[in-house]
Order: sequence, then structure tokens, then C-alpha cells
Amino acid sequence: MPKQKVNYDSQVKLFKVLMHPARLAILEVLRNGEACVCHIEAALGYRQAYLSQQLMVLREAGLVEDQREGWNIYYRVRKPDVFNVIDAAHQALGETKRLSLPAVIPSCSCPHCTGDKTNTTVAVARPA
Ligand SMILES: [Zn+2]
Repeated sequence: MPKQKVNYDSQVKLFKVLMHPARLAILEVLRNGEACVCHIEAALGYRQAYLSQQLMVLREAGLVEDQREGWNIYYRVRKPDVFNVIDAAHQALGETKRLSLPAVIPSCSCPHCTGDKTNTTVAVARPA
């Protein structure tokens, strides 16, 4: 009987991408729907340059995608299944505390937070 060989490369790649507090936090923000960098910045307090760096890693891994709308670039999760992995990790650790984010952040000037509906899309990919 031949020895079973399983290729774990893609799994390792996914876990490596998730192995970062800022990237996990970004995904948690995007769980509520798409957001621009300024919104993620207002939500998490990281600098934009740093966020852009982490978003690029997430994008290269195929987990998020970006879309330019007017002046803003919106990020959204491409594979909501990734939240199953994150949720499973929470469950395995017995952790219940989650990042709680307000729908609207007063210090954020993105169209979503300022109520400028002319420049936002309503369609949002949510995990089932
Ligand atoms: Zn905002």
C-alpha cells in the first residue's frame, strides 16, 4: 500500500496569513461588510500605511479584494469561509470575547459613516 501523501502547502499558507493580530483584526472589521482603509483605520487605530501593507498580504492570499469607488478604495472579504476557520479557533480556545464594532464610527469620514449614501454600495457579502 502506498504511503499517503497529503500536500499541506495551501493550508500552511492560509494559517501563515492568519498568523497576525492586525490581519485578524482587519478581517473582523470586514466581517460586517466592505470598508475603506480610512474606516479600518478609525476602527482599529492602526496607521494607513501599515494597514495597506497588511491588506496587501490579505489580497495576495486571495482573502480580500479591493474595488475603487470614487475617491475611496473599498475592501471586502472574498472568501467568507475564512470566518469558519477564525470562529473555530475562537471555539477551540474557549474564547467568547470579540471585537465589537459600531456600525458608524464618529471619527471616520468615509461615506458609510458620514451617511453619504450616494457613494456607497449596499451589496455586501456576508457569511451565511
Ligand atoms: Zn467609516
